[in-house]
Amino acid sequence: MSKKMQAAVVEAFGQKLVLKELDIPTIGPGQILVKTEACGVCHTDLHAAHGDWPLKPTPPFIPGHEGIGIVVALGDGVTAVKEGDRVGVPWLYSACGHCEHCLAAWETVCGEAEFGGYTKNGGFAEYIVADPNYVAHIPNGLSAVEAAPIICAGVTTYKGIKETGARPGQWIAISGIGGLGHLGVQYAKALGLRVCAVDIDDRKLAHATKLGADAVVNAKQPGAVEAVIKATNGGAHGVLITAPSLIAFNQGVAMTRKRGTCALVGLPPGEFPTPLFDVVANCITIRGSFVGTRLDMAEALAFAAEGKVKADIELQPLSAINDVFERLQNGDVPSRVVLDFSNH
Ligand code: NAD
Ligand code: ZN
Ligand code: ZN
Repeated sequence: MSKKMQAAVVEAFGQKLVLKELDIPTIGPGQILVKTEACGVCHTDLHAAHGDWPLKPTPPFIPGHEGIGIVVALGDGVTAVKEGDRVGVPWLYSACGHCEHCLAAWETVCGEAEFGGYTKNGGFAEYIVADPNYVAHIPNGLSAVEAAPIICAGVTTYKGIKETGARPGQWIAISGIGGLGHLGVQYAKALGLRVCAVDIDDRKLAHATKLGADAVVNAKQPGAVEAVIKATNGGAHGVLITAPSLIAFNQGVAMTRKRGTCALVGLPPGEFPTPLFDVVANCITIRGSFVGTRLDMAEALAFAAEGKVKADIELQPLSAINDVFERLQNGDVPSRVVLDFSNH
């Protein structure tokens, strides 16, 4: 094994990533080393590289939280995985395991959680150090490339849909049909929901129709909210907002049916005003949803392994990362880009 690896590093917020040759990291007790096969590029990686959020990572760091690879080394005491296993190193990199949230199987909100590609180096590199207790276990039959988008975009939309409480036969409106949303449409259909897809790009809407959406609405058209309310015969029982745009949040709340739930998933920096009278008088629930627990992860992967959900993937080499970021920023990525490390 060579002692060096290629990695894409954020050295300063808002700057291009720097492709570098770094030492392969060494592992300590309780850690594992994963040789990366594939890593998806999530819009969150852009927020990370821009320092968009109140809790900021500390440059230099390696983004990427859809990294899938093979376990190549075990630290002392590791029993949860073995060498040769295929694992994913997700956003929820680790948690304390002991706080009230961890005990309630809500490890996603653990105050001591670490985040892959954010507070810990991630998958835009040929090797990743991981916590074996929090890696995703990739089912047989699912390739690394296919699994990559599932471990963030997939689990996040699967969980977010569940959090709306929408039941089979009811309507879900999904705002933002990019990396997250195109999987959200598929999970929602697999869960027996009727789907109204909402985006500002007609190409994304045409894709949503191909994936089984029952109705589509362009969020930029005049009367877009009314169009969703009409299509869903009174508003969607569940609304899932994945769009990285504040206006989508105002629209999403307004599309929610009386007594329905609007789940917020997209993370553009900022705030949005809430129309109090409407939310109160219509008994609407607005709730945040943050990735998913390890159990959600296993469930989300099982849908993919059974072929019920399949990410649309464009493969690119690690060296293309700055172009990919620019296209993602401009809305020019059709669904998901996955960085392919297989020729390394
Ligand atoms: P993406 O860029 O692949 O997709 C975004 C989609 O939103 C695009 O199709 C775009 O056309 C559409 N869009 C933009 N403005 C819109 C608007 N006003 N109305 C409707 N659609 C609009 O991004 P992604 O990787 O799917 O990530 C989306 C967001 O979700 C990001 O902010 C990301 O940080 C966040 N995210 C949150 C979690 C979580 O746990 N809550 C997990 C992953 C990603
Ligand atoms: Zn993500
Ligand atoms: Zn905890």
